[in-house]
Amino acid sequence: MDYDVIIIGAGPGGIYAAYELTREHSDLKIAVFESGNELHNRKCPIDGDKVKSCIGCKNCSIMSGFGGAGAFSDGKYNITNDFGGTLYEYIGKEKAISLMEYVDKINLEHGGEGTKLYSTANTSIKKVCMQNKLKLLDASVRHLGTDINYVVLENLYAELKDKADFRFLTPVRHIEVNDGGFRVITDNGSYTCSKCIVSVGRSGSKWMESVCHELDIETKSNRVDLGVRVELPAELFSHLTDELYESKIVYRTEKFEDRVRTFCMNPRGSVVNENTNGIVTVNGHSYEDPAKQTENTNFALLVSKHFSEPFKDSNGYGESIARLSNMLGGGVIVQRFGDLIRGRRTNHKRLDQSFVTPTLKAEPGDLSLVLPKRILDGIIEMIYALDKIAPGTANDDTLLYGVEVKFYNMEVSLNERLETKYEGLYMIGDGSGVTHSLSHASASGVFVAREILGLN
Ligand SMILES: Cc1cc2nc3c(=O)[nH]c(=O)nc-3n(C[C@H](O)[C@H](O)[C@H](O)COP(=O)(O)OP(=O)(O)OC[C@H]3O[C@@H](n4cnc5c(N)ncnc54)[C@H](O)[C@@H]3O)c2cc1C
Repeated sequence: MDYDVIIIGAGPGGIYAAYELTREHSDLKIAVFESGNELHNRKCPIDGDKVKSCIGCKNCSIMSGFGGAGAFSDGKYNITNDFGGTLYEYIGKEKAISLMEYVDKINLEHGGEGTKLYSTANTSIKKVCMQNKLKLLDASVRHLGTDINYVVLENLYAELKDKADFRFLTPVRHIEVNDGGFRVITDNGSYTCSKCIVSVGRSGSKWMESVCHELDIETKSNRVDLGVRVELPAELFSHLTDELYESKIVYRTEKFEDRVRTFCMNPRGSVVNENTNGIVTVNGHSYEDPAKQTENTNFALLVSKHFSEPFKDSNGYGESIARLSNMLGGGVIVQRFGDLIRGRRTNHKRLDQSFVTPTLKAEPGDLSLVLPKRILDGIIEMIYALDKIAPGTANDDTLLYGVEVKFYNMEVSLNERLETKYEGLYMIGDGSGVTHSLSHASASGVFVAREILGLN
């Protein structure tokens, strides 16, 4: 065998698997294949000047490369089983939490010391939410911030680069099952290994589908979350964000009984573009460094859509809706809440007069031409519900950016060791459908590494 273990994908799942494998066993031969670039070579060409919007690079530096999709993220590590993935269904709740705490410890040892850990335990906000038909989910949140998150990744890479063979700009094309191991095929040659960890995240979702198809590994997919990113003056949410940093609040709509939830809250943050498979959607982040903070807070409001048989292409559905906003606005559309309620388009004049200054240059438009009625109605209901716990949320000038989509990778059929039907072939992180967060993806990496080392 060329390697004891080959890891495919250098996102949090792959990085923490490599970290744990090499921590005390530096004699193991490990390779990490990554389709993107090294961390310091990850540069998105959008500069707001010459390149204003996404030009669809073959290799998206925001989503791919060392650090994975989370490299330029806000670095919020949520330590909870309430959201962020279903790792606990495979390995148990206690173990899942203890692995997330272990990842937190590694982050602190690699540059994250001094960052704040927020918690929902004993908060009075929970009661206020309940009184207004809202549910605050339990979690502890380590907020690294975009800047410290980057430093942690730099430090982890400095430690790992001599212990494992990192091959950047090397997408894996196929995996073959050989006698007692696997052959990993790239454009620059093929390599054999005894164990293989696949951790290709959301950007690798299409490739994962083809691998599962080729190897006849069962999968299922039926969920997509669709909605908008809300941006408003930071003061309006400061009583929530100062205490909890990120509050995950859920609301069940009266009309359709759909679940709408807040997601990825960024106090004093910025709204950003995100490119998924060539489609421009919206996201947000914030910095720990006060100099980089803005006057606004942003968060997503998402409606979960679960499809039943015979429809299987939930991600295709989400993509089609995001494409509509790209078609109308050339990218992301922004609309004032007041204009949405009055049934009119936001134009440049109305946006310029708004008291909320947008942190993302997006085309003013009409989200009701993009989002299905059921989803838009749910978002409007939730904005009015949030207005009761954070008055001002339903102000005319509250900005809504669309479309925000959370694609869920298909769920791969795995056993309680996160192993496919082939012994030694593990699928982890967001690409497996088991996780959809930094902490869960990282914890899944540590888990399979310990599984391989016989330490679980
Ligand atoms: C803008 C943004 C902000 C976010 N903020 C947060 C946050 O604050 N908190 C949170 O919990 N989550 C956040 N997330 C989600 C989080 O980043 C992901 O849940 C997490 O990165 C998943 O880790 P992963 O290792 O499973 O996959 P990824 O991080 O997606 O990494 C997978 C890697 O595999 C590589 N790859 C794909 N296909 C191949 C192939 N065929 N061969 C080789 N390599 C391949 C990709 O290039 C990528 O680098 C955010 C995501 C984005 C995009």
